[in-house]
Amino acid sequence: MRETTGTAGSILHLVRNGHATTRGDLAALTGLARSTIAQRVDALLASQLLVPGSDSASTGGRPPTTLTFNGDAGVILAGDIGATHSRVGITDLAGRVLAQRRADVAVAEGPDVVLAWLEEAFDRFLSDTGRGFEALRGVGIGLLGPVEFVTGRPVTPPIMPGWNLYPVGNRLAERFGVPALVDNDVNIMAVGEHWADWRDEQFLMFVKIGTGIGCGIVAGGHVHRGADGAAGDIGHIHVPDHDDVVCRCGNVGCLEAIAGGGAMATRLSDIGLPARTSRDVVAHVLAGEPDAVRLVRQAGHLIGGVLATCVNVLNPAVIVIGGDVSQAGEVLLAGIREVVYKRSLPLATGRLSIVSSRLGDEAGIIGAARMVLETILAPAAIDAALVEAAAG
Ligand SMILES: [Zn+2]
Repeated sequence: MRETTGTAGSILHLVRNGHATTRGDLAALTGLARSTIAQRVDALLASQLLVPGSDSASTGGRPPTTLTFNGDAGVILAGDIGATHSRVGITDLAGRVLAQRRADVAVAEGPDVVLAWLEEAFDRFLSDTGRGFEALRGVGIGLLGPVEFVTGRPVTPPIMPGWNLYPVGNRLAERFGVPALVDNDVNIMAVGEHWADWRDEQFLMFVKIGTGIGCGIVAGGHVHRGADGAAGDIGHIHVPDHDDVVCRCGNVGCLEAIAGGGAMATRLSDIGLPARTSRDVVAHVLAGEPDAVRLVRQAGHLIGGVLATCVNVLNPAVIVIGGDVSQAGEVLLAGIREVVYKRSLPLATGRLSIVSSRLGDEAGIIGAARMVLETILAPAAIDAALVEAAAG
């Protein structure tokens, strides 16, 4: 028998995850009497979180045989605030994106400008999709920089003037009257990629290679934030033989100061290939410029060296490579793979997949919505909400 407490919340969990589709399944999995199951299922049907399955029409008067999770029972607003552009979206409770849009709103404009834009975009989603405030169940936001997850505040983010300790989560929770969760962008992207393609794996690393380099870790099926939310900051791991390079963090020889998109753009400009951003570097690679190809491959080797160490520590089943520089494709991926497979232990690489992000820019909003869904649909949260509904 699966580990389950048999409460209404855990019954919903069993149906949502496909472990059970009938009352009989639920009785078998929980060991509870059918009458108890019926009572809890009725509460979930009344709350609209469960609905009769599509095959139940032919049962002629008897209770429907199958149960389905109702993704239409509410909506989630999601935002991914980036260095040069941001993306917002609205999803249903199954995490399906109902609408989304991208805008050139940069985090450097400060919290008042960015959050005002975000709130207006959210208002418009609620009215355009016809769902309205009453359907809203939660808000999820990703920010590029360290975030104190519990309080929803960025903590000394390096390229976000005015954001330090700004109460992003509280502001959105008050504005929309629902739970609002805020996390580092790489954490939500890791959640998005994990949910979209690798749900059956418990250990995944998502590596974002853009202007800087960062990493989100899924361990045991959940985001691993570390004791203070600083886990996964691989961009500032020291790489040998580059102590002449000073990083924006103040240290020397950091991975992102050498292999990040910003560093590569500067290097290419210095040798006469004009480049300002990660995307310019990728454009040179895709145009077949030998110097750009060589530089990105070398960056792949350096990143691979750091990831080989991470693989020995964490033993992930999957490493997903994302961020603007990942658009360079095989040139980067081959460089990373060469070193990871050579330097990590055979047991750790036996079934390790190193792949490019499939969700691309969308990973952030899909992951942000997912983060909220896993919180508000957790068994204990559902049980509490049903108690409240019964009392109210
Ligand atoms: Zn650094």
